[in-house]
Formats: sequence, structure tokens, C-alpha cells
Amino acid sequence: MNDILVVVEHLDGKVKDITMELIGAAVSIKEEMSAKVIVLVIANDPETISQSIKYEGVDEIVMVPIDIDHFDPLLYEDIIIEAGKEINPRLIMLGHTVNGMACAAAVAARLGSGFASDIFDLCMEDNELIVTRSAYNNKVNLELGFVNKGIVTLTLRGATFPVPVESSSPPIRTINIDVTKLMGVSVHKNYEEAPPADIDISKAEFILSVGRGIQDEENLPRFAALAENLGATFGCSRPIVDSGWLPKAHQVGQSGKTASDCKLYFALGISGAVQHQHGMKHVETIIAVNTDPDAPIFNVATYGACLDIFELADALEAGQA
Ligand SMILES: Cc1cc2nc3c(=O)[nH]c(=O)nc-3n(C[C@H](O)[C@H](O)[C@H](O)COP(=O)(O)OP(=O)(O)OC[C@H]3O[C@@H](n4cnc5c(N)ncnc54)[C@H](O)[C@@H]3O)c2cc1C
Repeated sequence: MNDILVVVEHLDGKVKDITMELIGAAVSIKEEMSAKVIVLVIANDPETISQSIKYEGVDEIVMVPIDIDHFDPLLYEDIIIEAGKEINPRLIMLGHTVNGMACAAAVAARLGSGFASDIFDLCMEDNELIVTRSAYNNKVNLELGFVNKGIVTLTLRGATFPVPVESSSPPIRTINIDVTKLMGVSVHKNYEEAPPADIDISKAEFILSVGRGIQDEENLPRFAALAENLGATFGCSRPIVDSGWLPKAHQVGQSGKTASDCKLYFALGISGAVQHQHGMKHVETIIAVNTDPDAPIFNVATYGACLDIFELADALEAGQA
């Protein structure tokens, strides 16, 4: 009982990014754990899904065919437990996503395993698994161990762990699990796509974000144009989205997107609350502009200017004219 079981997330026949990140996290720790990485595919057509997860470091793919293709928390919970009896993992990994959160805690409770959610780092110390998560509204990071827990179940934060790049040909096997007793307990009516986003904050290398400092919706187009002229992706803090001024896809932070690939981040009129920092404080170069010299954004900024953002916009626009 030493292996790592990674649960695949997929939608409409496509594997979700979080799955690759889980595999990346599992592969990064497998040697220290002396573990194999076993990837569990629960799907109507698991063969097709399996083609997308043949990464270097994956030791085995286990397919469980079921009659439906959407995510069902009860079925996943049961199948992870039943497949786990054969696989006997030491660590079970799911995404910290709507799907993962819907069944991971139940799996942990039924197994009596250790459990931690929203993990953004993990390592081995003296042969013990240590994971890191935030607490107290992201004000502190906690390192957690799992004393006397044979099995540990985790949900891992997205856009955090490196995705494997090399492919391989791991062995694939099928386990048949009878879930007829659970079929129809919950009824899936339909799946509704969120409106397509015009931008992807997580992939942008240069982001110009605005916060409540822009004061009025009328000022938004001016800063959007500035971002466009500078070649930046236009981001924002949460109040801008909550006010309905920009779509959610633009929001940087804990309940928005993480600026994972960003190299340069402009924060204009953003105070720098921990929830906002959550999505950007790791960025290599952060330039903050705020009229308040005590704004917390200056604690994470590489360069800071105590300046009115409208004066800055005047100067930049004059320079572009
Ligand atoms: C569970 C939870 C999740 C959250 N998730 C997120 C998230 O994902 N992303 C996020 O951003 N927030 C998030 N928040 C909200 C967060 O706590 C803050 O309320 C929010 O980030 C504040 O946004 P802001 O900096 O734009 O506004 P404010 O905090 O009001 O800051 C505005 C700043 O603009 C400055 N300013 C004003 N006028 C000017 C001017 N003319 N020139 C220059 N500077 C000026 C002010 O000095 C101030 O510092 C979350 C909160 C909770 C509880």
C-alpha cells in the first residue's frame, strides 16, 4: 500500500487541465514516496480519455467503464472506494474543483483517511507526507502532516502544479464495478456552458489590472484601451466583477483566476487584499500604482508608485499619442 491514485476529470470527452496538474504533482513526489502513479479513468468511453493521459511518470491507467458520461458524485465516490480496494493507494488525489470537492471529503470519511483540501504544495519529510494549504482567509500558510493515517485523500489547487510534457505508454487495465444500485439516485438534467471568455488570465504573460480605484464604470474603457495599447491582458479585482462592470473571466484572485504564466503585472487602484494577492503575488515583476502609501499591494510590488491612476493614464496616453 504505497501508491498514488489520481482521479481524472473530464467533460465532453476532453480531459480537464486539472488532471494534468494532478499527474504532475503525483509524478513530482512519487520517487520520494517510492510510489507508483496510477490514474483512474471513470467514463463512458474510458479508452478515448486514456489516450490523453499517457504521460511520462504514469505507471498505470485503470479504466472503470460506466453507462453515463457526466460527473456524478455518488458514483465517483463509490468507484474510488471500490477501485481503491484493488489498487490499495496510500494517497488519493482529486482536483480542488466543483467535482473534486463534491466527492473527496466523502471518500475520505468512508475510508477514515487523512484529508486536506486546496493544497498548493506537498513534499515528504522523514517518510511522512507534508502538505501546504492556506488558512484564516489566506493570511497564513499551514503545513499539515497526517499522523497515524494510512491513507490520505487530497484535493489540489488548480494552476499550481507543473504539467508533465513527455508522453509514454503506461499499461492500461479495466476494472468492472457494479454501480447499478446508485444509478438514478441523482439525476443529471443538462450541462450549461459558461459564456465563452474573451481572455485567459491564467495564460497571459502581461496583465494590467484595475481595481476600485477606477471609481466609475465610465472610466473602464479608458483603462481597457490602455491595456490594449500596451499589449496587456485586461484584468481586475473582484469588486469590478461584482459590480457587473467586467465578466468573471477578468478577475484575478482567490475566487477568480491565478495569473500563472504572468511575468509582468500592473495593479492600478488595487489595495492588494490577500484574496487578490492569491492570484498574482508570485509574479516576477509587479508594478503597483495607488494613492495610499500604506496599501498592502506595495508589500508584494517590485516597483510601486504613490500616484493617482488617472494622472498615470494621462501620461501614458500622452506618450502613446
Ligand atoms: C472569499 C473571498 C474571496 C475573494 N476573492 C477575491 C478575488 O478573487 N479577487 C479579488 O480581487 N478580491 C477578492 N475578494 C475581495 C477582497 O477581499 C477585496 O475586497 C478586493 O480585492 C478589493 O478590491 P480593490 O483592491 O479593487 O478595492 P479596494 O480595497 O477598495 O481598493 C481600492 C484601492 O484603490 C486606491 N485608489 C482609489 N482611488 C485611486 C486613484 N485615483 N489612484 C490610485 N489609487 C486609487 C485606494 O487607495 C485603494 O487602495 C474576495 C473576498 C472574499 C471574502
